[in-house]
Amino acid sequence: MDGLLRPILKENQMDIACWNCKTGIKLDKAAVEAALAQMDASKVGFHDAHCASCGKSNRATRDVFTAGLEAFAKAAKAADEPALTRRGAARKTKAENARRRGEAVGKGAKKGRR
Ligand SMILES: [Zn+2]
Repeated sequence: MDGLLRPILKENQMDIACWNCKTGIKLDKAAVEAALAQMDASKVGFHDAHCASCGKSNRATRDVFTAGLEAFAKAAKAADEPALTRRGAARKTKAENARRRGEAVGKGAKKGRR
């Protein structure tokens, strides 16, 4: 079941190499979702992706598309996370620092005045 077609995901596009001319058939997330929706509607377990170069249809199993969609989700998460974490961490550190400074100053002021 490990497909004839191995999708390569790069730059948010699933790339299927055409069996006939080896041209990459590029599918973005929307195209993958559309293919899955089409398979759901027609209740078939494969989708024919047409090569833009030679016009041959490349039959890919549903697995290829679900794997592609998962890869999209993973890529989106990976792209999102560092920025979010960094921003969140910076905000947290800033707030914590302010609080710590405030507390330290407060305590210090109470305890030992020079
Ligand atoms: Zn082709």
